[in-house]
Amino acid sequence: MTVRIILIGPPGAGKGTQAMSIREKHPIVHISTGDILRENVRAGTALGQTAKKFMEAGQLVADSLIIAMMRARLSEEDAGRGFILDGFPRNVSQADELDLLLDEMSLRLDAVVLLEISDDVVVQRLTSRRVCASCGAIYNVLSHPTKAEGVCDSCSGRVIQRADDHESVIRNRLSVYHKETAPLVEYYEKKNLLHRINADGEPDSVLKFLESLEASGK
Ligand code: ADP
Ligand code: ZN
Repeated sequence: MTVRIILIGPPGAGKGTQAMSIREKHPIVHISTGDILRENVRAGTALGQTAKKFMEAGQLVADSLIIAMMRARLSEEDAGRGFILDGFPRNVSQADELDLLLDEMSLRLDAVVLLEISDDVVVQRLTSRRVCASCGAIYNVLSHPTKAEGVCDSCSGRVIQRADDHESVIRNRLSVYHKETAPLVEYYEKKNLLHRINADGEPDSVLKFLESLEASGK
């Protein structure tokens, strides 16, 4: 069956880690706007050049750019078999645009998963987070270090700290989240799509939810 879900949560809630555990066991496509933007920055595209300074400051990239990017991504063939959206929509106007887009494509959402976590835990997690610059694998110097310092366990790529994982930028991303993204909780509650998950728990709680959705038939 085809499942379409959205992952919402503050930076550091573990959206990327959850998506990784899903990818290992489940064929669903994971679409992360942050990952697509970072690829564009690396490749030096026009979009990447514009997005870079907003990302480094922890601010949102303009809706029009994000929507055009997602319109293109969701039209690709693999997305027709279901998807998990991570990092989009990030405010109410993006959510309205997504509604329109899904209507046009005659698709509907199955659920919106909210990963709940406190700001303090977020700051602690993100300041200790490291990522592989080649394959995107996520590590943590406290809870999940690489075997050799600075070297990815799975691809031997260089493991680095994201420019936006420094404390002042994290605080900024959190305030953007509370102001812009948190209103989506009520937005999707009204549509009866919201499902809350405690983000302090296991890194495969979203996978379990996905499997329970599928088991429930539809
Ligand atoms: P996190 O959720 O950990 O903050 P992401 O990887 O999802 O990080 O996003 C990194 C940055 O990319 C954001 O701080 C923002 O600048 C930009 N970005 C990602 N998704 C969106 C979006 N839907 N709308 C606007 N900006 C976005
Ligand atoms: Zn790697």
